Amino acid sequence: MAFPSDLEIARGASLKPLDDIASEMGLPAHHLEPYGRNVMKIGLDAIEELADRPKAKYVVVSAITPTPLGEGKTTTTVGLSQGFKHIGKRATVAIRQPSMGPTFGIKGGAAGGGYSQVVPMELLNLHLTGDMHAVTAAHNLLAAVIDNHLYQGNELNLDQHNITWRRVLDVNDRALRNIVVGLGGGMDGVPRQTGFDITAASEVMAVLALTTSLEDMRERLGRIVVGYNKDGEPVTAEQLETAGSMAVLLREAIKPNLLQTLENTPVLVHAGPFGNIATGNSSVVADLIGIRSGDFLITEAGFGADMGAERFFNIKCRTSGLSPDAAVVVATVRALKAHSGKYRIVAGKPLPPELLRENPADVAAGAANLRKQIENIRLHGVSPVVAINAFPDDFASEHDAIRQIAEEMGARAAVCTNFAQGGKGAAELAEAVAEAAVEPSKFQVLYPDGASLKQKIETVARKVYGADGVHYSPQSQRQLETYERAGFGTLPVCIAKTHLSISSDPTLKGAPTGWTLPVREVRASVGAGFVYPICGDMRTMPGLGSAPAATRIDLDEHGDIVGLS
Ligand code: ADP
Ligand code: MG
Repeated sequence: MAFPSDLEIARGASLKPLDDIASEMGLPAHHLEPYGRNVMKIGLDAIEELADRPKAKYVVVSAITPTPLGEGKTTTTVGLSQGFKHIGKRATVAIRQPSMGPTFGIKGGAAGGGYSQVVPMELLNLHLTGDMHAVTAAHNLLAAVIDNHLYQGNELNLDQHNITWRRVLDVNDRALRNIVVGLGGGMDGVPRQTGFDITAASEVMAVLALTTSLEDMRERLGRIVVGYNKDGEPVTAEQLETAGSMAVLLREAIKPNLLQTLENTPVLVHAGPFGNIATGNSSVVADLIGIRSGDFLITEAGFGADMGAERFFNIKCRTSGLSPDAAVVVATVRALKAHSGKYRIVAGKPLPPELLRENPADVAAGAANLRKQIENIRLHGVSPVVAINAFPDDFASEHDAIRQIAEEMGARAAVCTNFAQGGKGAAELAEAVAEAAVEPSKFQVLYPDGASLKQKIETVARKVYGADGVHYSPQSQRQLETYERAGFGTLPVCIAKTHLSISSDPTLKGAPTGWTLPVREVRASVGAGFVYPICGDMRTMPGLGSAPAATRIDLDEHGDIVGLS
């Protein structure tokens, strides 16, 4: 019998009342706000009320440099929490809310996979409690105020050619990347060129992910820089008197959403910032609740450890004040083989057949990437555990090859079969993570707040990416000077580069050396609280492929969703 689809498995789930799950987390009922039958929001007062509870061990799940298909971080994150239940521990998961762009694009759903999924997966992948829409509305309200400000006489002297605030939509729509607004007659606004990004790329989303309270969110929204005036000085949302309205639109969205895994363990789903130009991590407020509600809090960081985990450590933990106790590095046979440099994996295309043959030597040939990502975790003083996410086409000899690389690096490792088996398939991983998490934590951020922006960029480039140095374009030099002058120099950096290589060149596999990081441009998300240098082409509005998932998703005769994988 064929292995059932994610949607079939999810539909067969037996869900537990969320009241019971919340009560097992120690969450008092007055903080819970039901949204339909199987989703709840949690009021932020819970953070203060739970503050004297014991702290859970804090675990981040990251990975080797992924193939375009994803290596199973969400699947492993969910599986690990199920594995903990299997060994008698209470674990909470905290993950991002999936963007609907990829859901209807190439990826399908993002609720984990197989027997390690978050349910109801249809709700998770589509709308959920409307947080994405609230972010979209708040973002576009500010855009409307900017254009209205120009129309009404431009009192703030905004430079029309230096407005950085664009519009957002949670749909992959390449035709909106570059647009002209204000066409028509004199009553229809001031014509200018702008464009749309996907909602996940909105700075408002990054604010939602990094904020610590309603009051803090209101302040961060006020600090958002929308562009510059004709003297080159930043103009903020506060100056446009719009941050208050934006906060009002986000009043419900700031509350984390509670769902469950297929094995009825708690899952906090909250915020979904992009993984390249933003932090790629779920929200700080969800973690501040989750850290008080069990033995372990497990959170996923997007892309490889050089990206998501680095930002988790240096941006998210810096903001939240929480300190991680262990880090999981997910590795797969197919991705390590790809890091041998012999194979090319293309999203939407079948895997090359040679890649599926038993070949532990190719796994070993890709080892440099795993070694470097383990090192990247250790740079921050955190204990790494390698999770070998087993796929049906793998061979035991290939898993052994990964185990051996981990052992040579002195890291714990476990083969995970939770995709096929649920929690019991991640019991060995849970034991290994529990051991790693009791080792004394020596967590440290990589650079102090006081270092210059250039020093911060160079620290990450050399230590984490293994670059020889950094090359700045003249434009990026000027921007860095402007930001230092404007007082943004104390912010951490979120380096936007390809996720398909530790270097800035997506075609370089393994752990590239002898290269220089090219900084083309630097932007500032002052409200969210980071500066992001751009290295290479960064798409902030994806397009749809030749056969998007949108052409397969439908309703059946019972009104149930089909085609959501
Ligand atoms: P990531 O979070 O790293 O992007 P996901 O957990 O979303 O990865 O997994 C990517 C895709 O691979 C999903 O479609 C998922 O169902 C599938 N997948 C993950 N692990 C396995 C596995 N062990 N066997 C088969 N498919 C898997
Ligand atoms: Mg994921």
